[in-house]
Amino acid sequence: MALLEVKDLRTSFHTEDGIVGAVDGVSFSVEKGQTLGIVGESGSGKSVTCLTIMGLNAKRNTTSSGEAIWKGKNLLTTKPRELREIRGNDISMIFQDPMTSLNPVHTIGKQLIEAVQLHRDVSNRVARARSLELLKAVGIPYAERRIDDYPHQFSGGMRQRVMIAMALINDPDLLIADEPTTALDVTTQAQILTLMKRLQEEFGSAIIIITHDLGVVAETADDVLVMYGARVVEHASVEELFNRPQHPYTWGLIGSLPRLDIDVERLIQIPGQPPSLLRPPRGCRFHPRCSYVMEVCKTTVPELLPTQREPDHLQACHLDEETKDREAAKLLESMMAEAG
Ligand code: SF4
Repeated sequence: MALLEVKDLRTSFHTEDGIVGAVDGVSFSVEKGQTLGIVGESGSGKSVTCLTIMGLNAKRNTTSSGEAIWKGKNLLTTKPRELREIRGNDISMIFQDPMTSLNPVHTIGKQLIEAVQLHRDVSNRVARARSLELLKAVGIPYAERRIDDYPHQFSGGMRQRVMIAMALINDPDLLIADEPTTALDVTTQAQILTLMKRLQEEFGSAIIIITHDLGVVAETADDVLVMYGARVVEHASVEELFNRPQHPYTWGLIGSLPRLDIDVERLIQIPGQPPSLLRPPRGCRFHPRCSYVMEVCKTTVPELLPTQREPDHLQACHLDEETKDREAAKLLESMMAEAG
């Protein structure tokens, strides 16, 4: 049985200008010990999807529907008090900027101890010992001394390690990491991703990693959900997605990946802007930016359907499979030729 099963999730924000459909019919599941990457540009709905599951959207002017089944309970209808228990105990979140999540006026130790005692009836001594254990596990040097430092005394990378320690302190079954490495330099980013992988093996948590960077997904995830304009446009295992991508938007994401084996980053970008979710385009939401657009794309929403060859590979595009396979092969060949 899946640890988390999300079915037809929809979230709308009611603004003065009208209704913004921020998440539109998203479904996926996460198994124990699995890492799911959710990738897309900013405003694609990936963060709102997870905030909705966690009950963290502003209550006013927001409506949600669908299901997020966690251990037999629908989180969308769970009482706030029970949901607070689940958050931080069973499910934890790590955000992009640890400075906004850490309290600048309290020491790291005080905050970690509070996180333990919020969910467990243990003494200060036990909670401090657990905090130290976690600071060591995430690689904070001189943890015995640094536990009494304040957040501003840590570098960005070290603060993110503290956040990971805090997220894991109560042995969550699921960790949701929202752009956990975006604010960090490339070297620190690689260290944090390696750390998350190692800790996942050690702690056995499932992870949902939200990112705009397909490179992060390639490094960490088992499965990938590609979101565009509040909808899922492709869902596959990482291996299948990188070997046989089926959606023109995914081709754009793969084509714009920075190349680490040469000095110059590829600066190819997907032309055009992400769609307005207030007044989204009819039919396929990617059609104004798609170089393969056909008449049907402008009127008819493509369904998320399995490919003929791989039933677990879902894609939402009107192109026929032969064309998709041919174009994907061309893209991958050109990237390999460039890599020499
Ligand atoms: Fe492009 Fe049409 Fe496929 Fe949308 S459905 S991605 S517009 S080809």
